[in-house]
This record gives sequence, C-alpha cells and structure tokens, in this order.
Amino acid sequence: MGVLKNSKKFTRRDFLKRTTAGIFSSGVLVNRGKYFRVKGEKFPANDVEMKYRILGRSGLKVSEIGMGTWEAPNENVMSYAIDKGINYIDTAPEYKEGEEERMIGRVVKNRRDKVVIASKIFTTSKSTKQETMKSIEAILKRMQTDYIDIIMIYQVGEILPRRGITKGIERLKNENVIEVANQAKKDGKIRALGVSSHGGDLTGYMNYAIDSGNFDMIMIKYNFMTFPEEEKITKKAKEKNVGSVAFKVVGGAYDQKIKGYENSRTPEFRRAAIKWVLSNPNITTLVIRMPTFEEVNNCLKSLSEKMGYNDKKMLERYASAVKPYFCRWCGTCTQACPYSVAIPTIQRYLMYYTNFNHQRTAMQKYAKLLPEQRAEYCFECSALCEKICPNNIPIKEILTEAHRTLKSDIT
Ligand code: SF4
Ligand code: SF4
Repeated sequence: MGVLKNSKKFTRRDFLKRTTAGIFSSGVLVNRGKYFRVKGEKFPANDVEMKYRILGRSGLKVSEIGMGTWEAPNENVMSYAIDKGINYIDTAPEYKEGEEERMIGRVVKNRRDKVVIASKIFTTSKSTKQETMKSIEAILKRMQTDYIDIIMIYQVGEILPRRGITKGIERLKNENVIEVANQAKKDGKIRALGVSSHGGDLTGYMNYAIDSGNFDMIMIKYNFMTFPEEEKITKKAKEKNVGSVAFKVVGGAYDQKIKGYENSRTPEFRRAAIKWVLSNPNITTLVIRMPTFEEVNNCLKSLSEKMGYNDKKMLERYASAVKPYFCRWCGTCTQACPYSVAIPTIQRYLMYYTNFNHQRTAMQKYAKLLPEQRAEYCFECSALCEKICPNNIPIKEILTEAHRTLKSDIT
C-alpha cells in the first residue's frame, strides 16, 4: 500500500499471514483464527477493508479514517491500526512535548512509505525562514525520518499573545513560512502544506487558506452539529482541489451534561458520527482517537455500515440536547466583547476539563491566557456577546463557570 500510487488492498488473509509471521516487532501479537492475542488478552479481529480518498492536490492517498494522537494509543494498537489499512496519522509537537511524534517514528520506522503523517508548526506572523525551517527539522529529528508528509500551520484562530499571536489571519500571510514550505517540498522534506483550525472565526481563516492557493489541505472541526458555513467550506475546498480533514467528529462528548441521555461514548454512537462525516464526499478523511484495539475495530466497522434511521435519530437526539451548550467557534461574539475575552477558546478548555477529563491540561492552558483574555470580566458584564451569538449560547453563564473551574490552580 503506497500512499501515492500502487495501493494494494489489505485483506484478512494478509492480516493472518502477517501476524502469524510475527510482523509486530514486539512479537506480542499472536493470531488465533478469528481472534488475536496481545499479552494474553483476546481481541476479535476485524475483516473490514479500508477505503481511501485523495487529499486534494497533494495526491496523497489517505485512509477514510485517520488516527488522532492527542493521547496516542500504545505502539501495538498503532501497529494494528496501520496493518488494518489506517494510513493517516495526525500529531503535533505539543502532544506530550514531542513524545507522541517520537513514538510514531518508532512505530513506522520499517514501513515509512505505508503511512501519511501530518504534524504541525506553531508559526507567527513574524516567524523567520530560519525559525520555520528549524521547526520542520525538529519534527524530522523527533520522528527519525527524512520527510514528513504534511505540515500544518497549527491552531490558526487561537489568539495567544504570549506566543506573539494576536491576529490569526496574519499567520497565514507570512511569506517566510510559505517560501520555506515550498522549498521543503522541492527538497523532499515535506509533501504538502496545510492549516489546522482552532479558536474563533473558523470560516474566515479557512476561506482565506483555500483562496490563497498556498495550502494543499485544511483541518476543520466538522461533525453532525456543524453549521452551514462548514459545509460550504468543504465544498469550496473540493472545487479548488484542497483536501479537507475533519476533526472533533463526535460532537464534544457533552453527554455528561445531559442526565438520562445515551452516552456519546458508546461504540454505536461513535460509528454513527463517523458515518455522518464520511457521507460528505468533500471530506477527505477524519481524525479520531483510537486508544484500544476495540476502538480501532469499532472505527473500521463503521466503513462496512450504511447510515441508518437509528443512527440519524441517535445523532439528532444528542444534537438537540446539546445545542444549548455547543459553541461552533464562529467567533462572532468576540466582536461585541468590550474586553478581549477568548470566548470560544475558553469554552473549549472547559470541554477538555469537563467532558474529556483533561483537568490538568485545561487548567494549564487557561493559565497561559493573558489576564484580559480570561473570563474574570464576565461576572459584572451585561453580556453583549450573547446578543449576537447566532446559536444563542449562554456565554456569560458558561464562561463564569469556566473561570471558577479552571482558575483554581493559577491564583
Ligand atoms: S460576558 Fe461580557 S466580558 Fe464576558 S465575554 Fe461576554 S461581553 Fe465579554
Ligand atoms: S459563543 Fe456563539 S458566537 Fe461565540 S464562537 Fe461560539 S457559537 Fe460563535
């Protein structure tokens, strides 16, 4: 299975043959017919064949389901996913301070040409050519590889004054970054340049990235609760031969807020969310966490199923219950805030804390915001932001809760 051409189907027979032959370097995975064992534990094998799509003008052939590595799975699970045809792996230097990149490098060492790896660089509007190149070289070094398939400008939309980022759009316009990326492509160090989104004004940044002609792909928050602008973005990207990679596909795991509601962490729910995203032909692939063998198999299973009535109803029920809390990161509200409160960003940090149990990460991130970006001002404010939020989010209530929750360790 080459990632540019000559893709070969990976069948169950191949799986059985290769596992019997001990393809896994650790030697811990043992075939037992319909099952395999890892360190004595028994897992059902999965027969589903992977499907692939082309990532825009990069020509990279990527699996419809990609692996996210914020909290990457262990090396055996990642190896299994790759052997099952999952060839798109998304990472970033920030994930465990480069440790995830190092681990990916170890896992793909003897099959580098079988995977498409996407990582990110944190450039500003003022990054020099030397700084940009240094960031790319650092990734190559951590992964012990000669090339990285995709480099994205990381988290465009985040306003991080401490890191010199005050206007996201200016980051995309930095010619130094574009020139270095183009040269790195010629030198064979990267194959594609992209943009990953976070924070507010998703629409503005993504439209700029697509129209500029400088970017081969975008990474966009996209799920069954998406708003119409996101559909338009993926359509335009396809027309301009720019690949679209979806993330946050399961809709935020807000079920903890909904008493008596079905759990959005169930296998059925996750498959329904995947099927919904892939039903859009303008999406090239999606990135999702797969921490266990079961989760890899569950994600694969979604490729063998059609979106059914029950799937739609399940997603609709969740969407309707979660709607009052679900920020779309459009950034509209920030125009009305008389301060500089990072409204969509803080809501995301609260989501990390409450929904994903990443308390420490959430509090650390909140601590890194400047005082004027935090929600301290919201307590005494008349909340003009809420008047222009197109989704009627109770911003003041959520942000004051966020401040109480996230500030505890930073005072
Ligand atoms: S409640 Fe006031 S301070 Fe807080 S985000 Fe809204 S407008 Fe800004
Ligand atoms: S709170 Fe509302 S206006 Fe602000 S980013 Fe979220 S959805 Fe958009």
